[in-house]
Amino acid sequence: MLKVFCTLIVFVLTASSAFAGAIETLTLIETQGLSDTALLVNSSDTLKSQYYPSGKMPSQILAFHVKFAGQEILFDTGLKNGNIPKELAKNNIPPENIKTILITHLHPDHFGGLVNSEGKPQFPNAEVYVSKPEYEYWVNELKNEAVISALAQYNVKLFAFGDEVVQGVKAMDTAGHTPGHTAFLIEADGDKLIVAGDIMHFPEIQLPNPDVAVKYDVDPVKAVQSRKFILDYAAWKNIPVAGMHITPPGVIQVKKSGNGYEKY
Ligand SMILES: [Zn+2]
Repeated sequence: MLKVFCTLIVFVLTASSAFAGAIETLTLIETQGLSDTALLVNSSDTLKSQYYPSGKMPSQILAFHVKFAGQEILFDTGLKNGNIPKELAKNNIPPENIKTILITHLHPDHFGGLVNSEGKPQFPNAEVYVSKPEYEYWVNELKNEAVISALAQYNVKLFAFGDEVVQGVKAMDTAGHTPGHTAFLIEADGDKLIVAGDIMHFPEIQLPNPDVAVKYDVDPVKAVQSRKFILDYAAWKNIPVAGMHITPPGVIQVKKSGNGYEKY
């Protein structure tokens, strides 16, 4: 009873929070705006205008602070010198308190917020976890300067798909959007949450039409397979899905519907 009471209080105080019992999810908003439907691939103009008659799609960049089983984890960090530390501060979480950051993939709207405009760490006490194939692609293959300099500010730990990255969090292979794109399955006291990164970018069209991809997908065919894998799994097991580009609060429940999925 006490727990329910406390949860209610916190919910009233932080309207952007979503709760799944033992897993407490705080949604952090980096940006909200509009994107052009020209970003969509595998989609006809007719289909695009059916969902977005204006040619513009709602778009957002989110990160999530998740508490469970005595742990606190920041999933992704938004943009360089961005809003996420302020969003945390609004909820009385100083950036120094962040000890663990799990990165879904190394695009600038996900790892960029590791550093400020001078390239200094925004979360000075954090360890940063990245999948091995993602690190291999951006650091060793592309030699991406922004990634290398941001990660150099941190103690970086690499994990493989299937690993228990930290206690209660398993790395799910969702390669496609990027070669090491990771979804994280959190389990605590029977509750579950999938932090799914960029498993979809524009849910209004991509849930009912999961074959629709975006220009940022490094491998669109695999990205579509990974989207269906996660959404099938989430629908089957009734697990909420948190996505960095889903309309705030960014956590949805899905079920199968027609050739795709719908929220419920
Ligand atoms: Zn993204």
